Amino acid sequence: MNASLEELLTSCRSYTDLGKVASYIPELQKSDPHRLGLCILSCHGEYQAEGDARVLFTVQSIIKPILLLQALLDNGVDVVRAHVGVEATGKPFDAINYTDQILDSQHLNPMVNMGAIAVCSLIHGGSYEERFQRLLALTRTLAGDAPIQVNEAVYRSEKSHATKNRALAYLLKTYGIIHDDVEEVLDCYFRSCAISTDCTGLARIGGVLANQGRCPDTQKALIPPEYARFVNAILMTCGMYDGSGDFAVRVGVPAKSGVGGGIMAVVPGRMGIGIYSPALDEKGNSLAGIRLLELLSQAMDLSIF
Ligand code: GLU
Repeated sequence: MNASLEELLTSCRSYTDLGKVASYIPELQKSDPHRLGLCILSCHGEYQAEGDARVLFTVQSIIKPILLLQALLDNGVDVVRAHVGVEATGKPFDAINYTDQILDSQHLNPMVNMGAIAVCSLIHGGSYEERFQRLLALTRTLAGDAPIQVNEAVYRSEKSHATKNRALAYLLKTYGIIHDDVEEVLDCYFRSCAISTDCTGLARIGGVLANQGRCPDTQKALIPPEYARFVNAILMTCGMYDGSGDFAVRVGVPAKSGVGGGIMAVVPGRMGIGIYSPALDEKGNSLAGIRLLELLSQAMDLSIF
């Protein structure tokens, strides 16, 4: 690599001026749009961090691959596939994923809100509190020693400004895709989105997905390799919402973004990458974050294509 990570990061800083922090969850509006951080963890445990790599932010949609992993661990592939589809939606994160047809579980994608809300109902537990605690425990296992907390202010902020997600969840109930109390399912979803970490946490989780389910530091198996492959495939086709095609062309690796400004990228067999920069493009993806990943991909030949 010719340019250092620091040089690459510096060259992307001006892109933070071009985006906007999310405001539909009021608490997220407090984020500093000029933050930019990066962490890389190789599958052999080598670690590099630059810029605002230690700033905490809420993962938001980056919890969706972990929700899916928990559902896979609890139910196996066949049950999960019977409840959510795997086709790319080509639609925004909060889209109602049906066209002229009756709403069907196969029209949902677990990386888009409606599918992720349905996935919450697949997690095992005697109560939704227990289901959330199991998800939190899995997130901590994957993130190793990186900080994993719950941001109560962001959780409350989303919960009290969630008319669209509420509407989506009630549609799921109306069409018999979820059966549990809608508010309990939603509460689990909002709390999941409000889990906070830093770039090192995203790099660690991405590193496990890149390393066939093994911890990059210890090589201990944390999740079955076939579940890591399943999640990575869906990240490739739908992890960046209706920007997934553009991202595949420019960066070329499985990744998941969140409206908090994080991006977790998975370079199979090589590394996990965590990025933070909360100024978003019109699709809800971190603008400087994608640019930084594009430059990294060119410099380190990361594209899987
Ligand atoms: N909690 C957010 C929502 O449901 C997540 C969206 C995202 O990160 O894309 O609206």
